[in-house]
Amino acid sequence: MKVRTGFVSNSSSSSFMCNLCGAEGSGWDAYPAQFGWATCENWHNICTCCLEEGDNNINVTSDVVDDPDEGPLLKKEKCPVCQMKNVDKTIEAKLLRKLFQMSTDEQIFSLLKKRGVSTYEELKEFLK
Ligand SMILES: [Zn+2]
Ligand SMILES: [Zn+2]
Repeated sequence: MKVRTGFVSNSSSSSFMCNLCGAEGSGWDAYPAQFGWATCENWHNICTCCLEEGDNNINVTSDVVDDPDEGPLLKKEKCPVCQMKNVDKTIEAKLLRKLFQMSTDEQIFSLLKKRGVSTYEELKEFLK
């Protein structure tokens, strides 16, 4: 087996998603605070764009506490996902499937067909 030089054996690739907008962050041994993302007590990640937008029910100056060890922390009382003000983007698809009882892919495709979507190209157009 070939081993790349400069490869640290205990580092690993990690990725995480903003629970508000679905933006992704990733890197070797990366963690959300590295990118200035805030994390709530229930491990919801909020990306810098969502923090800066001021449009997501978060007041960065009063709701986010800078923890010297953990980085920016968002109190769960102030977290829009914990407070059910915003839908958690990481579980949105699962949630919609459950709500609309679309447990199988076949059910989704048959519904799409009724909307005139039967090819991948049409699907991309449909999602615009
Ligand atoms: Zn975001
Ligand atoms: Zn939360």
